[in-house]
Amino acid sequence: MSSQPYSYDAPESQALFDRAAAVTPGGVNSPVRAFRAVGGTPRFMVSGKGAYLTDADGREYVDLVCSWGPMILGHSHPEVIAAVQEAVARGTSFGTPGEGEVALAEEMVARIAPLEQVRLVSSGTEATMSAIRLARGFTQRTKVIKFAGCYHGHVDSLLAAAGSGVATFALPDTPGVTGAQAGDTIVLPYNDLEAVQEAFHRHPGEIACVITEASPGNMGVVPPLPGFNQGLKDACRKNGALFVSDEVMTGFRTSRAGWFGVDGVVPDLMTFGKVMGGGFPAAAFGGRADVMAYLAPAGPVYQAGTLSGNPVATAAGLAQLRLLDDAAYVKVDAVSEQIQALVTEALTKEGVAHRLQTASNMFSVFFTDRAVRDYEGAKAQESFRFTAFFHSLLASGVYLPPSSFESWFVSTAHDERALQKIADALPAAARAAAEAQA
Ligand code: PLP
Repeated sequence: MSSQPYSYDAPESQALFDRAAAVTPGGVNSPVRAFRAVGGTPRFMVSGKGAYLTDADGREYVDLVCSWGPMILGHSHPEVIAAVQEAVARGTSFGTPGEGEVALAEEMVARIAPLEQVRLVSSGTEATMSAIRLARGFTQRTKVIKFAGCYHGHVDSLLAAAGSGVATFALPDTPGVTGAQAGDTIVLPYNDLEAVQEAFHRHPGEIACVITEASPGNMGVVPPLPGFNQGLKDACRKNGALFVSDEVMTGFRTSRAGWFGVDGVVPDLMTFGKVMGGGFPAAAFGGRADVMAYLAPAGPVYQAGTLSGNPVATAAGLAQLRLLDDAAYVKVDAVSEQIQALVTEALTKEGVAHRLQTASNMFSVFFTDRAVRDYEGAKAQESFRFTAFFHSLLASGVYLPPSSFESWFVSTAHDERALQKIADALPAAARAAAEAQA
């Protein structure tokens, strides 16, 4: 889609995007940021405070992306900023062990019962990549089951039928991933336990692990059907495979113990990122101590990182987690419910077929009249209505994820003014969605 129709009111962002495109592929450092699914000029943000972002043209937006999940306390939370400043003043990286990483690991382990040990890394991609390697090393098996529409970062073997940007751009596969890497990945439809059982039956003794988003948010929000995660766990246990729950998105967001705190299904390994980094590059994987004991230097499976457990990132993450008490989750859940109600009301009033799906305080809107249970269902929505809806909200100062295949995220900082701004913007956006043509 051309960037022209929507670029008229963002001249500074457009100028920055032109500069960026000269030195960076597509002008962005992560594909979905480029607005390709919805067209127009991506807004270059210069600052964030609470529920609001300000772009290079000086326009303020209510932020419903929250940096794709991490900013659950809103932007520039004073206590997180203070912790970062205090850490920075002591130095930014030592390449040695430090107390901050121990304290962050202790906080995580204390919140999630099955998380006996964690290893810190710098991105969710690293976390899932390392968890898969560990699962293979531990089981001495090669194959991995993943689900269509689940995104686990840009790990080579996990890019098959992935969600997020891969879904947004309808990429069937990505060049650069070898047949061998993809060949060890078995991609199954989400929420389909029979398909899982059949795969175990077809590949006896070959499957190292099943990896799933604890509750998927990368094909839009498609929660597991009751019993699905437990069924995965049971199938893994029966067949000698590990159950890997990817909580990079849901971890410390959907409850103080993430999605584990919601459904209580005990994984063998878990992965984390986003919220635990407080807006800095910090992520982790962990789980059963006997499995984690296979990691170097305790065990033979190699895994390492120059900036792993970085003191500034761990200070930010620890400060954020310590602020995330029960009251904070009550607040985020309440904000989410209020926005969900506003969206439903506006779209219903305009007669727009839609399904608003939730997973705790994560939610997204599918422009379809059918419940979405898997990636095929997500792809069947009328995405052109999302485009019109998105741009109308953007013009009114409400910033949604620029794709219908993404979760919306809210924070404790979404105040009455933010909710009112959303309420004021929604009627025109719902009308735009109703009037949109394919
Ligand atoms: N796993 C899930 C469930 C995610 O949502 C993401 C990112 O959105 C990742 C893994 C990859 O994390 P990162 O972007 O930090 O590499």
